[in-house]
Amino acid sequence: MDKKLLLFDVDGTLTPSRGVASSEMCDILKSLYNDENLVIGFVGGSNLPKQHEQLGDCMNYFNYWFPENGLVAYKNGVEFFTSDLMSFFTEDSLKELINFSLHYMADLDIPVKRGTFFEYRTGLINICPVGRDCSQKEREDFFKFDCEHKVRENMIVELRKKFPDLDLHYSIGGQISFDVFPKGWDKTFCLNHFDLGEFSEVHFFGDKTELGGNDYEIFCDSRVVGHSVKSPQDTIDILKLEFLK
Ligand SMILES: [Mg+2]
Repeated sequence: MDKKLLLFDVDGTLTPSRGVASSEMCDILKSLYNDENLVIGFVGGSNLPKQHEQLGDCMNYFNYWFPENGLVAYKNGVEFFTSDLMSFFTEDSLKELINFSLHYMADLDIPVKRGTFFEYRTGLINICPVGRDCSQKEREDFFKFDCEHKVRENMIVELRKKFPDLDLHYSIGGQISFDVFPKGWDKTFCLNHFDLGEFSEVHFFGDKTELGGNDYEIFCDSRVVGHSVKSPQDTIDILKLEFLK
């Protein structure tokens, strides 16, 4: 009962944004992993190959891996759980959402449209009015246009009106798109894989803990002690101070 669970966001928390983990970070994770009173896991929105790219050999110093916010789950390197959007949608309800979104985007009058307006992923749907195939310049132009004309915000208002019975969460992130996913399928989803009563404390470290950020829900969860970090160095400093003997 004196075991503690430590959970970490990956990007911006263990690694620099879109970068790889430092050797210092790896050494610290190894020390935590070797402490028999600690159980260590990471949880991020990306898939496992992307997380492996960023964490490299540090992956070995985690008891738990949670790609896709824990919709896919590994213990000691072995997958023990996997789910996807079709455990939430029926074919009919998904089709209705796709049809409505494509019709809505077809009628949008925006300066530029390219390809890939709708992306179906394991745990979320990504909707992109300009199309994900746009160039960097087109991306920046859309972002400016969207700040002024609220294209994404307005579309979310219409989706909420159209699908009041689907318990969906809408999240605007980045410059060109927004995500749609079932409520609760944020990082708190990974907590479902534990009997939290087995731990004296559960800690989470993340860099996007403000409202609207992708660490917000788990950071605020009453079962979790949240740590808001500004960088991987910040994470290292807290770990040295609080968890390394
Ligand atoms: Mg992050």
